[in-house]
Amino acid sequence: MSEIAGPAAAALASLCPDDVIFLQSLPKAELHAHLNGSIPIKTILELAQQYSPSSAQTTEVADTIEKLRSGVILNDIFDFFSLMPAIYALTSTPEAVATVTRGVLQSFLNPTGDGGELNSPQCTYLELRTTPRMTAHMTRERYLTVVLDEIEMYPATQATLIVSVDRRMSDLDVEECISLAIKMKNRGRRVVGIDVCGDPRSGDMQSFTQHLSRAKSAGLGLTVHIAESTKNTTEDSLALLSCRPDRLGHATFLSDELKALFFADIPQPGTECDSLSECATSTTANPHTPAGLRDPSHPLHDRFKNLKEGYFLRFVSDSTESEETKAHISFWADAEKFSERAAVKDIEAMIKQAQSPNNARLNGQYKPCMEICLSSNLLCKTVASLDAHHIRYYLKNDHPIVICTDDALFFRTSCLGEYSLLLAQPPLGLGLSRDDVTRIARMGMDAAFLIPRD
Ligand SMILES: [Zn+2]
Repeated sequence: MSEIAGPAAAALASLCPDDVIFLQSLPKAELHAHLNGSIPIKTILELAQQYSPSSAQTTEVADTIEKLRSGVILNDIFDFFSLMPAIYALTSTPEAVATVTRGVLQSFLNPTGDGGELNSPQCTYLELRTTPRMTAHMTRERYLTVVLDEIEMYPATQATLIVSVDRRMSDLDVEECISLAIKMKNRGRRVVGIDVCGDPRSGDMQSFTQHLSRAKSAGLGLTVHIAESTKNTTEDSLALLSCRPDRLGHATFLSDELKALFFADIPQPGTECDSLSECATSTTANPHTPAGLRDPSHPLHDRFKNLKEGYFLRFVSDSTESEETKAHISFWADAEKFSERAAVKDIEAMIKQAQSPNNARLNGQYKPCMEICLSSNLLCKTVASLDAHHIRYYLKNDHPIVICTDDALFFRTSCLGEYSLLLAQPPLGLGLSRDDVTRIARMGMDAAFLIPRD
């Protein structure tokens, strides 16, 4: 077994042997594992030895390997992306890509041989993801073919591929990657889905949507990294959600209002409403002042309040009325009426966007599986503690989730380590029951793209 460290290792070490056997024997699906971020350290070191220093990248490669040896310490999520160029430098030939793919598949799917009572693999089913890379030694098509050749050495019930597109890619590059994924799928190769990944600060997601919709129409599953950092805007999330992805990666900073707009979760107390339109536009004496939005427990109340305050201030500051008029109560009543109407109009526009194109939320159907990567979030410092983790929201709302490693190489974790974080007692873990953990593992298996799609 690859050595694990950090929060996952601490949680695993706190479990009794019987709990470890229980976790090992659970059928588990790993649905969010990046190929280049999951390379066993042993394989990286072997590649580094063969790496012929020929460019300025040599120092970068050596620095990154040293960090990987001693344990990567990230100050924030953006530090993470600085590690990738060195990995890419080591895997720029078809031979190196085949080597790392084989290493990653073995680390997830072959028995771990870690001396435990059960010599089980890390997971039962793996959906590996990677961005087709073009280098001086290969085309994107060649890259994908090499990866698929390795994946298809395993049965389809064990290993499949998700083709990632990077947020930094040009429109043409995204189009090429999606076309390749569709072509491979149609040829019977084992491509099951599309992912959007990369630096959360980059890219205009609106321009990605046409390509993502094309992939969905071709029968590919869709997962997207969404609201991964505080830098991601509401517009960014809205664009991605408009494609109705089957699964969402991280979604750490997805606002409560977007969850309320899009997800068919069990409503929180005080927010029950039969339909979204009723929720947002329930009429009182004045149709432009929905009582629901004034209620502090309404999921859109904060946005309504902020918008209204903004419009109110603007009304007052832009007014050319005399001081005498402004002293009259009717002036303030007008300001109140104007700001409420304007805020409601904005919220109605937002709801309209949320409901297009398929209006799935109104049918009460849309519950995309959330890909939860606990160690990744803790180590990238996007979540302060397990106690503050958004997994709690989804568990409370009976919303499907899957537990994943993300980048086991950098976060020094494993499927077993991540599941240990569920079972271990606080503060090392979430302290969930075995029944809960079994249910979570089953939800993960159910969210696989391999399941025949209609
Ligand atoms: Zn990821």
